[in-house]
Amino acid sequence: MDTLYLIKPGELELKTGNLREFESRLRKDIERRLEGRARVDIRPGRFFLRVPEGLEERAERVLSRVPGIVGYARALTCGKTMPEIGELALRVAREGREAGHSTFKVEARRADKGFPLDSYGLARELGGLILENVPGLSVDVKKPEFTVFVEVRERAYVHGAIRKGQKGLPSGSAGKGLLLLSGGIDSPVAGYLMAKRGLSLEAVYFNAYPYTSREAWEKVRDLAGIVARYAGNLVLHTLSFTDIQMEIKRGAPVECSTLFLRAAMVRAAHLLAAEIGANSLVTGESLGQVASQTAENIRFSQARTDLPIFRPLIGVDKEDTMRMAREIGSYEISILPYEDCCVLFSPEHPILRSRPDREGPIYESLGLDRLIEEAVRTRETLPVPFSV
Ligand code: ATP
Ligand code: MG
Repeated sequence: MDTLYLIKPGELELKTGNLREFESRLRKDIERRLEGRARVDIRPGRFFLRVPEGLEERAERVLSRVPGIVGYARALTCGKTMPEIGELALRVAREGREAGHSTFKVEARRADKGFPLDSYGLARELGGLILENVPGLSVDVKKPEFTVFVEVRERAYVHGAIRKGQKGLPSGSAGKGLLLLSGGIDSPVAGYLMAKRGLSLEAVYFNAYPYTSREAWEKVRDLAGIVARYAGNLVLHTLSFTDIQMEIKRGAPVECSTLFLRAAMVRAAHLLAAEIGANSLVTGESLGQVASQTAENIRFSQARTDLPIFRPLIGVDKEDTMRMAREIGSYEISILPYEDCCVLFSPEHPILRSRPDREGPIYESLGLDRLIEEAVRTRETLPVPFSV
């Protein structure tokens, strides 16, 4: 028998204008992540997912990760008669009891106004039925250990615990963003956060082979895989920045090297974004965290693009970012030791307050544009399928 899931979609209600498009994006995303083996039914304010036997575990992982879902629950369904509804309510209550709970409440919702009992009457009736038939349970409406949910709409649906989804907006509803993905802790979290705002993602990594190792790249690839769990399939572009770093090292004052490298990265990302149709860049920058992340230096590095740069961590403490990294599963990979290019070339006393009129001309005098274009042109491209 199929397993049924009731899904509460996220902020869809807010978007009355393009509700249809949002719903259909979310539906397609869920179905695609289940390889077309499950069907989503869209009803007002609710989705219903039918999953064939054996696919439940995968379905639950998908539902817990796909952007655009507030919560979901395994549900039972029946006709709109009290005996049928009562039977299912008892089943859910017994499961709660077997899980060791001793207090409960019934939360009922009558969406079908033609149903003879109103929400309150329904909850009372079913509560009484459960008390009579399931020994060891008592009602606690304020702090129940579990809740039996009942919804009467085109059919009746009964379910227990609602598990949390990621909230946010369906993947792709905000267009595509290009994530600057390093091997660090911050950028995978930034990608995850922006995926939840409806951006589908591609990622770009700048390496400095042979100064950076194969392992450093593998780490980034694995991080891309973690981001893809939430964002859906993505593509990882690897650009060789070795020549650019050498040129910066050769021609720029040492205290400017990180600053200029950042500016070159953003410029390359700008060109790549145009090629792949991305409408924005995403970075893991956080104000004041390192020298390149002062307001002045952020201004400098963003000067050669007019794309919006989304920095969801700009006001987030490192500790909170680390907590999110642990939650999404990227932390363990990020803390592997392999250095990315920036670390190897970072000066001891980097400039903190750059000025466009002072450092700008020095940067321009390096003439990096040709090398940047070449790095974009000769990139390696790897599809990173989302995994469950
Ligand atoms: P992270 O933990 O994400 O590496 P960080 O705190 O180490 O961030 P920086 O190293 O200054 O900060 O990098 C700031 C942002 O620039 C990163 O979050 C990332 O978006 C981007 N970035 C830095 N290095 C690279 C790289 N080698 N490839 C792609 N993006 C990079
Ligand atoms: Mg870093």
